[in-house]
Parts: sequence; structure tokens; C-alpha cells
Amino acid sequence: MDSFIEIDGNRIGFDFVRKPWIKNSYLKFDEDRLVVVSRNEKAMQKIISKHRPWISKHYKQIKNTVRLFDSNSIFYNSKRYNAGYVKSDSRPKADIWGDNLIIYAPSNESAERFIDRTIRDDTAKALSELAMRKAEQLNERFREVRIRRCRKWGVCRSDRTITFNYCISMLPEELQDYIASHEVAHLKEMNHSGKFWEVVSFLCPDYRRLRRELRNYDSKRRRVYQQAQAENLT
Ligand SMILES: [Zn+2]
Repeated sequence: MDSFIEIDGNRIGFDFVRKPWIKNSYLKFDEDRLVVVSRNEKAMQKIISKHRPWISKHYKQIKNTVRLFDSNSIFYNSKRYNAGYVKSDSRPKADIWGDNLIIYAPSNESAERFIDRTIRDDTAKALSELAMRKAEQLNERFREVRIRRCRKWGVCRSDRTITFNYCISMLPEELQDYIASHEVAHLKEMNHSGKFWEVVSFLCPDYRRLRRELRNYDSKRRRVYQQAQAENLT
């Protein structure tokens, strides 16, 4: 039976895991499904009604999250594609057919490496150009732009080196613009003071909205290219 609860107009699917030996019930989310672990039905009902606001808040957060890498899809040039890998002895390459992005490569690993390299090259090109343009607007210079696989979207160090996350080119362009503006603004102000945000606003007037929007994006790397899924696509 498919169980669900309704909170704030959302129909949230949930699974009840019965563990008669546990004293305290708990809640967690598995993707967008709520999992309730309790010793019995009554304890389950009780914890749900007690934590309705928590459930609602987390559910909305999960629903709003945009994952750049998913188990079977990927963002490319700000658009989501169904992604799949097809075994091929030629050099790795990618093809786009409608909403499908297919990577041809000799192995799953080489497909992964190929897509990482492509994303990294796109980001290096786009963000170097953006940072250069923004720095010119401020009459500032940076030492170097680096592209890394890291947790943050960007970092600007006091030696004027700017590091960008390697998958920024997957984001919508206005978010790329905000990230570049933010890091370049640090060339003038090495802090997050009011003065710093004035510089950001000069480079990117809509920064408040974009900064909020960026919080919905999750750049965590997931393996994308399962061969079986690729077969479904072709
Ligand atoms: Zn900063």
C-alpha cells in the first residue's frame, strides 16, 4: 500500500518501519520520501503529528533542490538532460538527441572522466572570461583563475588567486555571473562587510535574488552513466 500524509497541501509519501524494540521514534527523508521508524502505529502517529512543521520544511527544501548530477540525468548549459553511457571502442564523445545526452566511451570510468573533463573545460573558459570582465569593471587584477573540484562555488585568496568549482558552467548563466562577481569583489574587499556587498551589487545588481537561488543547487557528484539506462534512451 502506498502511504502518504498531507501537510500544507503537499502529498508526502512515507514508509513506516516497525521496530518493536526501540524506545524513541525517529524521522528521516530518503530522497523525497519520509521514513518513520517507530515501535508501533501509535508511536508513529504521535511523532508525525508532533513534527509536522519539520516535515513540511524539509520536504519543501528537498523539492526545491536542483541537483546538477543525478543518478540518470545531468545539467549541461543550464538544461537538464537524461544521461546515459553507451559502450564504444572509439574515443569518448557525447551526443545530444532532444532531451537525451549520450556518452560513447570504452568503459564507464572513461565516460565519467570524459564528462568531468568537458565540464571542467567549459567552466575554465566561461569563468576566466567572466572574472576578467568583472575585474576590468573594478580596475582590479587577479593573479590566476583555478578550477577545482571543491565544496564551495568559489574562493578568493589574499594572494589574488581565485578558485572556482569545476561544475559552475552547468548552472544558469545568471548564477555564474553572481559567483564571478562575488569572488572578484573580494579583490577590493577581503570580507563580507556592507562595503563588500556594495561592490557585488555594482557588478551584479540582482545579487540578492541570485544568492538565494544558488542555495537551491546541489553540486554533489553522483555517478550518472549506467549502461542499462543508456539502453533505455537509444
Ligand atoms: Zn565571499
